[in-house]
Amino acid sequence: MEEQNYIEPREQMIENQLIARGIKDQRVLDAMRSVPRHLFVDCSYRHEAYKDYPLPIGCEQTISQPYIVALMTESLQLKGTEKVLEIGTGSGYQTAILAELARHVCTVERHELLSSNAEKILQQMGYNNISFKKGDGTLGWPEKAPFDSILVAAAAKKVPPSLLEQLSTGGRLVIPIGDRLVQELVLFSKDARGVQELHLCGCRFVPLIEDQKS
Ligand code: SAH
Repeated sequence: MEEQNYIEPREQMIENQLIARGIKDQRVLDAMRSVPRHLFVDCSYRHEAYKDYPLPIGCEQTISQPYIVALMTESLQLKGTEKVLEIGTGSGYQTAILAELARHVCTVERHELLSSNAEKILQQMGYNNISFKKGDGTLGWPEKAPFDSILVAAAAKKVPPSLLEQLSTGGRLVIPIGDRLVQELVLFSKDARGVQELHLCGCRFVPLIEDQKS
């Protein structure tokens, strides 16, 4: 299938799933309009790549629903100058969206295969502002800290303390919090007075696995 064939489904995704549900940040909408989501899933799922649900990406993981990618990204209010940490590279789709909108993205994935596949495709697409790491993202990436924004794409019982430590003052961190079935997307904002918490919506992500405890 050629690139051209997906322009229409991508535009429908923007209109019906993102704008209709309240995504307003034009930079986020433009990024999601330009990144070819269908190239981040297996050929057998390409015809479903712009549908309103997550899809399997191997290793029992999923590429997040487009609306959730947009909502999490919008909540970070990226302007283009930031260094962002992403935990859970997965397919690399969310990574590409962040790389469109921030100065640099540091992304951590515990599955070697997913990490190397994502690195390959993102390099082929010409992104040169992404650093990849294979390992346990609950520890963050201390050598690259601090980060202006942090996005965690897997659900934790509580926010890993290392991630809050590696967030700059004035920074924002978005993460699904809860157990396997019931989770809420939570935005943490760090300022001189401490950390504020804002609950965005209910959601359902794969779990954030702490390797040192598994
Ligand atoms: N944003 C991704 C979604 C990936 S699903 C996409 O759009 O494709 C969440 C990912 O988090 C999975 O790939 C899973 O392997 C990874 N993950 C879970 N626990 C992790 C951890 N402790 N460190 C790094 N990655 C982790």
